[in-house]
Amino acid sequence: MAPVPFRSQAKETGGENHYDLIVIGGGSGGLGAARRAAQYGARVAIIEETWRLGGTCVNVGCVPKKVMWHAADLAEKMHQANAYGFTVPESATKIDWPTIKRKRDAYIERLNGIYERNVEKDGVDYITGHAAFVDKKTINVLPTYPESKAHGGSDVERKYTADRFVIAVGGTPTLPTDIPGYEYGFHSDGFFYLEELPKRAVVVGAGYIAVELAGIFHTLGVETHLVIRRDHVLKAFDPMLQETLQQHMIKTGIHIHTNSHVTKVTTDVEKPDLYKPFPKVIHTDKGEEIGADVLLWAIGRHSLTDNIGAEKIGLKLEKNGDIPVDEYQTTNVDNVFAIGDVGGKALLTPVAIAAGRRLSNRLYGGVKNDKLSYENIPTVVFSHPTIGTVGLTEPEAREKFGDENIKIYKSTFTALYFSMMDPEHKEPTAMKLICAGKEEKVVGLHIIGQGSDEMLQGFALAVTMGATKKDFDSCVPIHPCSAEELVTMR
Ligand code: FAD
Ligand code: NDP
Repeated sequence: MAPVPFRSQAKETGGENHYDLIVIGGGSGGLGAARRAAQYGARVAIIEETWRLGGTCVNVGCVPKKVMWHAADLAEKMHQANAYGFTVPESATKIDWPTIKRKRDAYIERLNGIYERNVEKDGVDYITGHAAFVDKKTINVLPTYPESKAHGGSDVERKYTADRFVIAVGGTPTLPTDIPGYEYGFHSDGFFYLEELPKRAVVVGAGYIAVELAGIFHTLGVETHLVIRRDHVLKAFDPMLQETLQQHMIKTGIHIHTNSHVTKVTTDVEKPDLYKPFPKVIHTDKGEEIGADVLLWAIGRHSLTDNIGAEKIGLKLEKNGDIPVDEYQTTNVDNVFAIGDVGGKALLTPVAIAAGRRLSNRLYGGVKNDKLSYENIPTVVFSHPTIGTVGLTEPEAREKFGDENIKIYKSTFTALYFSMMDPEHKEPTAMKLICAGKEEKVVGLHIIGQGSDEMLQGFALAVTMGATKKDFDSCVPIHPCSAEELVTMR
């Protein structure tokens, strides 16, 4: 659909500091909303409190994480190359951590620059500082980091007004401040500040970040312990994925401490440098004392809504700080919208971007009723091996449709790639299709195994379009590939 230009009169009616739209937060969602609105002709400002655009995903999330996943994948491949007749000495598989950190940081800095140029190109005013509401039409922007000055930041407090606001402030990792000695560990941001590869690491948590970062440490040769408070990882995922991943992690040597809670952390080191490995002991309620050089808390995240002046505009917050919104991303304040992680639902970059763009399509592009559907959002866990999942888990589907209306197709096998390897080096592949009703509509698709990350997108499209098992069966398989199994299950 051709864009419908929006005729902005913001400057004429409100002056230099008045906008049609002010977006608070220069991460995935904020950038998506701001750029799209400006492309339609709205006068837009984006406020970012750090000195760099891109938010969590670019700076301390998806992007640097995926670089490290690739590094770990290469280490794995070098070990596996021996099974294919190569002779790769053990020394060649050791990573030079400071080198990859330096290159990764430089890449992120380049991305920050690209984001700055993109907002400029779209005519979005980029303002650095911490934004907080004064009233429903006004925000204060407070100076934050000195580094911001290089990006147009100011030393003094400034005020801006707008007709509409989008809150896209995202979240930050949670630390267990009630555990004595918790400060000897760091959270996922710290993983990217770490200056050396540790010899021993303890990761606490069982979600995305815990399994991904524990997997990276372990694959790079670190003695890795995962402390989880239940008996399985990835609570919200299909049981087949939980079991297959956990068994493989244990098989490859990750020490998983199940049903365990950390009670305290101790160290003999005085004034340690947090981002350099130093010895410490992690004590659990099972009486275990786990020695480590690095402790990483991966126990979830919370929204950054403490200091945004919510009380000044009567903005409703959930107990945990999330902002409740309706299906159009509208908060309880009619000219204030919220998108991305701050909504507490599907904390994923493409979700934040899509919600932001659709909101701007609706507000400034004349695309009536545009909104993001939170159903069938595909997601990948960059574990070892990777996981891809879309739609309902088996327990969710049974609950929704009833046992009698569900048919499960399942396949477990070893990918051809591993046929040259000893049993202890083989990785599992497991796939599941969950079909509902007489027509066997595919309502859940779950895969774990080599290539699942790249395999998922196309299948997610089929599921989103409402494909049935018959549609899957009618697709000619590609041979020899793991993915062909998904269209040949019986
Ligand atoms: P953010 O990207 O967090 O952006 C919010 C921005 O607002 C920040 O830049 C912040 O500095 C700024 N801000 C906060 N308060 C204020 C204020 N008062 N004034 C001005 N600015 C403010 N998702 C995926 O899809 N795939 C992945 O592989 C993936 N990997 C991840 C790995 C890790 C380690 C982490 C932590 C997250 C990962 N995610 C991944 C999740 C993804 O990063 C987030 O879902 C996404 O960044 C959310 O975007 P957002 O715009 O809501 O918030
Ligand atoms: P998650 O919600 O995925 O996991 C949080 C974990 O912390 C859970 O395993 C939970 O345990 C555990 N936990 C919570 N409180 C405690 C506690 N007090 N003690 C011990 N364990 C605790 O959050 P993450 O921080 O891992 O990731 C945040 C979000 O970022 C994800 O939900 C995801 O949306 C996104 N993300 C996406 C990625 C991707 O797309 N590949 C990668 C990384 C992050 P329990 O299971 O027992 O409740």
